[in-house]
Amino acid sequence: MTADTARETTLSVRLVHWTGTLFPAYAAARLCYSKGGFDSIQPLESEQAMGVWLRDRVLSRGHWSILEHLTFQFAIGGISRACSHQLVRHRIASYAQQSQRYVDKAGFRYIVPPHLAACPEALALFRQTMTELSARYEELQHLLRAANPGATGESVNEDARFVLPNACETELVMTVNGRQLMTMTRERLCIRAQWEIRALFERIRALAQAEVPVVFDNLGPDCAWGKCDEGGCELAATYRRRPGW
Ligand SMILES: Cc1cc2nc3c(=O)[nH]c(=O)nc-3n(C[C@H](O)[C@H](O)[C@H](O)COP(=O)(O)OP(=O)(O)OC[C@H]3O[C@@H](n4cnc5c(N)ncnc54)[C@H](O)[C@@H]3O)c2cc1C
Repeated sequence: MTADTARETTLSVRLVHWTGTLFPAYAAARLCYSKGGFDSIQPLESEQAMGVWLRDRVLSRGHWSILEHLTFQFAIGGISRACSHQLVRHRIASYAQQSQRYVDKAGFRYIVPPHLAACPEALALFRQTMTELSARYEELQHLLRAANPGATGESVNEDARFVLPNACETELVMTVNGRQLMTMTRERLCIRAQWEIRALFERIRALAQAEVPVVFDNLGPDCAWGKCDEGGCELAATYRRRPGW
């Protein structure tokens, strides 16, 4: 039996879909003040104009529920199971994650923590461990198949995976509304958050800001909003809130 070799991989994040226009949020906000009802509400002349209106008239007053009318879907790969476990703790988002039962993880890909990568001895030990775990995983698959001739792929994988490390790569799709995107970003860009989930939310933040600039200009950790429960650090200056909010 020739073992597949475990390989290193890196973070990838794509915004695969979003509502595409601010109109659902704009219309929802307008409805609150509209005598003529929903059908009387027309979009403003541009996305920029609707964004400015939302920012200045709604979000700056803390009415964030309006952002729940916008949805974003991210395809996320190259994150560890350690990171995905933290991510899915956020309950107000929808996830679909690659199964370690249905997907054979022989020759799995893994994430290397930067501090570990910077220490040659630690990196060598880490890589060797990944290679060994990958080999053990395949050996277990082989033994389980031999012991249970009728075993399906998933019944073998679901037990062999117990030797897979936290570093093992996973892929998932996350669909989240605009308000929860702000909540998650505020928590996960905090310097107290783990480096990998921070890196993930840096990417998410950049993608959201590129797509919906006015509304998401202020995405940042809690301290950028003047509220810090975690103790002082220098991060607030990096994410200083932009004018308008
Ligand atoms: C720096 C950091 C360190 C952490 N360390 C640990 C740790 O050591 N151990 C650990 O177990 N977790 C840890 N966590 C995870 C943390 O405790 C939360 O589970 C996670 O961040 C999800 O966020 P959330 O609870 O704000 O809610 P989300 O699930 O993101 O929901 C968003 C908001 O909706 C509301 N909400 C959601 N569900 C409910 C509900 N059932 N009832 C009432 N309101 C609700 C709340 O206002 C909540 O803030 C850590 C998180 C961070 C950012």
